[in-house]
Amino acid sequence: MAVLEPIRTSKGQPRRFRVAHPATLEPLGELVVTPADEVREAVRKAREAQKKWARVPVADRARLMLRAVDILLERQEEYIDVIMRDTGRGRVETILMEIIPAVDTMAYYARHAERLLADRTVSNQTLLKAKKLVITCRPMGVFGVITPWNGPFVLAVNPAVPALLAGNAVVIKPSEVTPFSGRLFVDLFRAAGFPTDLVQCVDGDGETGAALIEAGVDKLSFTGSTATGRKVGEACGRNLIPFTLELGGKDAAIVCADADLDRAVSGVISGCMFNTGQFCCGIERVYVVESIAEEFIRRVVAEVRELRQHWDGTQDVSAMISPAQVDIIEDHVNDAVSRGARVLIGGRRNDSFRGAAYEPTVLVDVNHGMKVMTDETFGPVLPIMVVRDEDEALALANDSIYGLSGTVWTKDQDKALALARRMETGSVCVNETSLTFGAHNAPFGGVKQSGVGRVHGEAAIRQFCHEVPVIFDRLGLKKEQNWYPLSEDKGDGMQKFIRIFYGSKLLRKLV
Ligand code: NAD
Repeated sequence: MAVLEPIRTSKGQPRRFRVAHPATLEPLGELVVTPADEVREAVRKAREAQKKWARVPVADRARLMLRAVDILLERQEEYIDVIMRDTGRGRVETILMEIIPAVDTMAYYARHAERLLADRTVSNQTLLKAKKLVITCRPMGVFGVITPWNGPFVLAVNPAVPALLAGNAVVIKPSEVTPFSGRLFVDLFRAAGFPTDLVQCVDGDGETGAALIEAGVDKLSFTGSTATGRKVGEACGRNLIPFTLELGGKDAAIVCADADLDRAVSGVISGCMFNTGQFCCGIERVYVVESIAEEFIRRVVAEVRELRQHWDGTQDVSAMISPAQVDIIEDHVNDAVSRGARVLIGGRRNDSFRGAAYEPTVLVDVNHGMKVMTDETFGPVLPIMVVRDEDEALALANDSIYGLSGTVWTKDQDKALALARRMETGSVCVNETSLTFGAHNAPFGGVKQSGVGRVHGEAAIRQFCHEVPVIFDRLGLKKEQNWYPLSEDKGDGMQKFIRIFYGSKLLRKLV
């Protein structure tokens, strides 16, 4: 069963794939792979368009972005339909996962771009007090975006919007698994009046992604698996291209003895099952303190039983977007069961779909000798481990090669903050799930094998620029002390100065 099926093509013709709906296998169309020479041409054209775009004032760029917001709002249903077909997701989930965050990101950066990109006059340290320092932003050029299938529209919008507002061109390579949603992004910006070659899409699989990096982009944003991220990082390193990698995760939830059980149960289930478990910072494992474990597990199973998994667009849980994912899920669950885990609900494929689906599953009696507790499952599977106390929970949460995000469930904010500080992840949510991803003022990214670099946050838009410091002399003296001639007297004077200045506790405070 394949959502993406290669089509035989004659030699010299571009590779092609038949694309089918993940849940129903209904044909959706064909994906024609962009050959490497056309990828290079796309980057060349983007570079030309970018030169003019860089001269467009930021306020005018922002005005176009707001037109794109209007168009997205007007044509939402059309966009939702395409994304639902590509992903097999429900309608409400598509609105929550793709449309709202996209509109919000576009509106936020349109509103703040001018301020965030403005020249900054910065105060200098004492040695340079006589100089004025201005930090300006220069666009980088052509920005490459390689996206995964689990958030095919929003994961293109997120990095591309600040990049465009910062004066760059964008060439996106959407996942081959969800090719039509990736194209929406280009249609949207062109419809809003962005220059045609400024925003482009190249289609295909890993080969096309690799070709995009080799085509000489000036910066690359990659979102996808850790295994592919490693290859992308190597290729960028070889080409000396700056990059950010948003990679896999194995996010832990720590449920403390004083958690609000109603909220913790619903929150953990939503955090795990949202997007049928295909969410980078979704909950993948739970550590619950023993004093409340029995009640917590009982309620989790009861609520999971209520989840509706079918295909008509109104479901809670759906088929997997990529059918290959079901094999991984099945392998993790079977491995756990063979090592002593118990399935409380689910634990098998859902054969009512023509596509590949797995039932929402809850496992107990799990441990770190099982793949389901250590490897990224990326599916509707909730393994729950009972622990003595919060310290044990934290030690187990940190016992991972990943470190994307994590959650803590407690009524005690001080305790939550203390646990959050010790959690080895890029972000933490307390009595909440995944929200750090959508907070524009928060830097987002992973530690350990979950990523390199940060996106979002106020600094994010400037990361799509070269920040160029410009130093001005203020005093207009005929000569500076450090210019020729370098006499012994000058050397002695400078030594005296640094001894007095840096040798004094009081004066050091002026540095
Ligand atoms: P993937 O790594 O298989 O593919 C991601 C993209 O990389 C696709 O477009 C693919 O065609 C392309 N690609 C493959 N080989 C390439 C190569 N050699 N060079 C360049 N590009 C190449 O990932 P996926 O299976 O599509 O997505 C799921 C993964 O994405 C999960 O691990 C998930 O955790 C991760 N993810 C992370 C975040 C985050 O913010 N950290 C967000 C969403 C998804």
